[in-house]
Parts: sequence; C-alpha cells; structure tokens
Amino acid sequence: MTAQILDGKKVAADVRASIGAEIERLKGRGVTPGLAVVLVGEDPASQVYVRSKEKACQAVGMNSFLHRLPAATEQDRLLELIKQLNAAPAVHGILVQLPLPPQIDADVVLQAIDPAKDVDGFHPFNAGKLMAGLKTFVPCTPRGIMHLLAVYNIPLKGKQAVVIGRSNIVGKPIAHLLLAQHATVTVCHSRTVGLSDITRRADVLVAAVGRPHMVTADMIKPGATVVDVGINRLPEGLVGDVDFEAAKEVAGYITPVPGGVGPLTIAMLLQNTLEAAAV
Ligand code: NAD
Repeated sequence: MTAQILDGKKVAADVRASIGAEIERLKGRGVTPGLAVVLVGEDPASQVYVRSKEKACQAVGMNSFLHRLPAATEQDRLLELIKQLNAAPAVHGILVQLPLPPQIDADVVLQAIDPAKDVDGFHPFNAGKLMAGLKTFVPCTPRGIMHLLAVYNIPLKGKQAVVIGRSNIVGKPIAHLLLAQHATVTVCHSRTVGLSDITRRADVLVAAVGRPHMVTADMIKPGATVVDVGINRLPEGLVGDVDFEAAKEVAGYITPVPGGVGPLTIAMLLQNTLEAAAV
C-alpha cells in the first residue's frame, strides 16, 4: 500500500493563518512582532532562505529587518550589530543565517544573541533548557517535525524512533523532543555501524543527513513514519535524503521533498518570533 503523504505545505499554511490572526490581536495592543535576519556574504542557498523568511514575515504582518553584511565582515563588527539588535525594542527575534564566513566563529556569534530573542533556539542556554525538558525556544525544523507528527496523530509513546544525523540544528534537538514524547530514541550518525539494521526497527524514522537518496526502501520497516529533513540540490531539482518513490511503497506515512518539513521550518520561525513578542 502506498504511504500517506504528510503534507507539510498544508499544515504550514494552517499555522501561518493562525499566526496572522494572533498578530492582528497583538497589533491591537500596539505590538508588531519583528524579526531581524542577519546575512553575511553571498552564499546562494542562504540568499534564497533569507528571502523566503522575509516574504513569510511580510505575509503574516510581521516586521522583518534584513541586515546584509559583506563576506569580509570581521567578527567584532557582527558582534556589535548583534548587541544593537539585542537592545532594539522593535526586534523580538534575531536570526543569524548560517553558514558564516571562515573568519567568524559561529559559536561565539550565536552565544552573543540574547537568549530571549533566540528564535532559532541555537543558544546553548536554550539548547540546555530543551535537554532539561523546560519550556524554551525550540529550533524551528525539529519543532515543525513534532507539529507535523502531532497533526497526523502519529503515535510516539513507547515507539522506536530512529534519528539519522546528530547536528545541533536538527538531529540532537529532534531526539530530545521525541524522547520527551516517550519514544525510545536511537541517534545514528556517520560512524554508526549497521545503520540499516537499526533503521529497520524504527516506527518513526527521521533522516537529517544531507545525502541524496541514502535511505532506501529496504532500510524502512513496513508501515513506518518516515520524515525526510534532507535538502539536496541535484541537476533534476531538490531531493531529500530518502529514496521517496521506493520508500513510499513501504512506509505508512512519509514527508515529500519539497513540501514536507521545509515549509514547517519557516512557519515555526514565525511562531517562535510571535511568542518572543507576546511575552
Ligand atoms: P549536518 O551536516 O550538520 O549533519 C549531518 C549529520 O549526518 C551529521 O550528524 C553526520 O554524522 C550524519 N551523517 C553524515 N553521513 C552519514 C552517513 N553516511 N550515515 C549516517 N549519518 C551520516 O546537517 P544538518 O544541518 O543537520 O542538515 C541535514 C540535512 O537537513 C541537510 O540536507 C540540510 O540541508 C537539511 N535541513 C533541512 C531543513 C529544512 O527546513 N527542511 C532544515 C535544516 C537542515
């Protein structure tokens, strides 16, 4: 049987609609949520992401403040800008688009962001709170995945969840969120031995690697829920980490690429910014 598609585009549109309504209410109280986006350099993928974040802000009635800095920007100049944004009352959320040029230490920059404006949830203070199970800014992609699973009533309690990838942006936070929902979580990575034996046990399989089609149909337990986070640009277009055409004949539920996790990521950025403004 062919898997049911987890329609991230539709679910994200619903999230954006409710954010738009909430923003109208906040504006009535004299508050317009504002997101500052900092882009250093000319990375083409980053430019695309930043543009879509700006458009998404405007579409829900949020302010967006784009700060473009040249690729040769010194770290101190960027830290100075972050200090200003931390102090700016109209800015409720600050996002520094990654990757940063090599002369800049991303960890230092992310730690300079006021944790109360850290709508990406990358500051170690917020990452620590997430790990401790406390309320905090949850990184947008993992938050979006959890929302998608909740909307489709995918059971997690007592289920085997396998995450491929251990980045601070996706793999580690999604593992903590699944754990918080009482899944039994295994995290796999580039040094994992016997990957397919582990993935075949997964009721919920999350692939966040960045390798086109690395998850093949034989790695999937029949009926499993497969969440494909990967975004890989091939000459034929965008593809995920999962061999979608074959996988959808084995899985019970599956996210497409594009139109799966990606739209939820931006919707959750707006949601985090709204929550930062509403406190
Ligand atoms: P990353 O490069 O930081 O991490 C990749 C992870 O994959 C690492 O932990 C590594 O150990 C693991 N890995 C590499 N090769 C492996 C292998 N052969 N077997 C098992 N694990 C392996 O990447 P990231 O930032 O976590 O992003 C992962 C993918 O998700 C990328 O394609 C990225 O573009 C995409 N992404 C999508 C969204 C979205 O909104 N849809 C958001 C963030 C990232």
